[in-house]
Amino acid sequence: VKSKPQHFIQQIIRRDLEQGLHQKIVTRFPPEPNGYLHIGHAKSICLNFGVAQEFGGVCNLRFDDTNPEKESEEFVNSIMADVKWLGFQWDGKVKYTSDYFDQLYNWAIHLINEGLAFVCDLSAEQMREYRGTLTEPGKNSPYRDRSVEENLALFEKMRAGEFDEGTCSLRAKIDMASPNINLRDPIIYRIKKAHHHQTGDKWCIYPSYDFAHGQSDAIEGITHSICTLEFEDHKPLYDWFIQHLPVPAVPRQYEFARLNINYAVTSKRKLKQLVDEGYVDGWNDPRMPTISGMRRRGYTPSSLREFCERIGVTRSDGVVDVSMLEFCVRDDLDKNAPRAMCVLRPLKLTITNYPADKVEYLSVHNHPSREDLGSRELVFSNTLYIEDEDFREEANKKYKRLVIGKRVRLRGAYVIEADSCVKDDNGNIIEVKARIIENTLGKDPEDGVKPKGVIHWVSAAHARDCEVRLYDRLFNDEAPDAGGKNFLDAINPNNLAILPNAKVEPALANASVGTTFQFERQGYFCLDSKYSTAEHLVFNRTIGLKDSAGK
Ligand code: ATP
Ligand code: MG
Ligand code: MG
Repeated sequence: VKSKPQHFIQQIIRRDLEQGLHQKIVTRFPPEPNGYLHIGHAKSICLNFGVAQEFGGVCNLRFDDTNPEKESEEFVNSIMADVKWLGFQWDGKVKYTSDYFDQLYNWAIHLINEGLAFVCDLSAEQMREYRGTLTEPGKNSPYRDRSVEENLALFEKMRAGEFDEGTCSLRAKIDMASPNINLRDPIIYRIKKAHHHQTGDKWCIYPSYDFAHGQSDAIEGITHSICTLEFEDHKPLYDWFIQHLPVPAVPRQYEFARLNINYAVTSKRKLKQLVDEGYVDGWNDPRMPTISGMRRRGYTPSSLREFCERIGVTRSDGVVDVSMLEFCVRDDLDKNAPRAMCVLRPLKLTITNYPADKVEYLSVHNHPSREDLGSRELVFSNTLYIEDEDFREEANKKYKRLVIGKRVRLRGAYVIEADSCVKDDNGNIIEVKARIIENTLGKDPEDGVKPKGVIHWVSAAHARDCEVRLYDRLFNDEAPDAGGKNFLDAINPNNLAILPNAKVEPALANASVGTTFQFERQGYFCLDSKYSTAEHLVFNRTIGLKDSAGK
């Protein structure tokens, strides 16, 4: 086992275990079910589940469901599917912050009884005025000195639905002069007369993120509550609640830098806008940086895990080049994807010296170095399709494909030499006539004139029609949402090219969703899980063979 340098979270956990602070670590991944997971979440998933695995602990999946209007069961289900697909399993049952609403409510009452929370009637706007700024302290709310009895009665009325949304809230009584604005009497409960996907209409008041998160961690016995850096300023509040409530455990929060990736946006709000306004075809559109989009595009779970491993975990923000992600995908697929042949833009090729009624089955390996991936049979006949761009009437020496009077090898089959071509009335080449050089199956020509290259092909009568979708970057701008820019302005108008007349070798009719193939000389492709049917095969290009600016 090669020993990799440990990142700071691993070092903290190792130290805590060595010092006997915990017998076993418990982490959690706490998504809000208000959208689909994206590549940034993959980093958090790999980190939280990864350290749990590494140190013999467990990781919970907890839906942080305190904003019922924006959340839904659809998002809950997609998140569970994505975490599993990435290769992780949460401990026990899925958890919800809403599982703890009764306990959280009782803890709110505990704070009121301790004189540490009060019902405040300031409007949102007034509250902003009272809050102060970074340089100016805030002012106490005029409702701050309500008696415990009055607060208990008002909070009960809030819970009973007797007040309208926005008329009052429950706030912690901390310090309006604190330099940390999060400690200036933060809201812990607000009225929301919204149906909740888990609790139905039981509640019309909901805890704030800050009030819910640490307490949920404590209930679950989370030892290391790992979140992104924007929560660093919330940590004193996190600790304040833990300190002032009779919680069963003392979790600790640690922050790491979010993943930002160029040529993409990774904010659920913006991704939702792309979906809602029809710029893409759903959250799992293959151009989306969502986990489900990447899955549909043909990315593998191991390539995403490898990417997260490579980017590492630090406390300094930065932007990762998307080519790093593409490298990980390409590298994984090169090692693991079975090979196949597909002609994207077909040109008819007639073999003049091969009998019209003859068919041959040529066995080829599915992978150049992976015996375990087996072999398949190619069907050879006298009428084939080759790639339109693989033939020219004449060309210079740099062109290593088929030219009249020159030779190429058909992948897995014979060496051929082109003799002539047929054109339509507009002068477009519509057919090539060529000849097999005898005795060249798996051998060089006996006359010593070697083929200039190898091209892919399919048998016209046996190939399956298919549609191929070539994706390009969704955005032209490497930082589409930086510095107040409207990310919608950066959308690449040419982010999808559909090739409706492609021809794929017959074996691929039995391809299953979830397998990505290398189409020889073209790149990596997989069946589209949304549009492909037995009658109408649709393939998505995952990524090209080489790094050519993201193609
Ligand atoms: P968004 O801004 O996209 O809505 P979020 O942080 O609000 O993201 P959550 O559902 O709350 O989304 O995220 C669940 C977990 O994933 C959190 O712990 C969060 O810190 C982490 N996470 C979200 N985005 C990233 C990212 N880009 N890089 C690393 N971790 C992330
Ligand atoms: Mg969040
Ligand atoms: Mg969010």
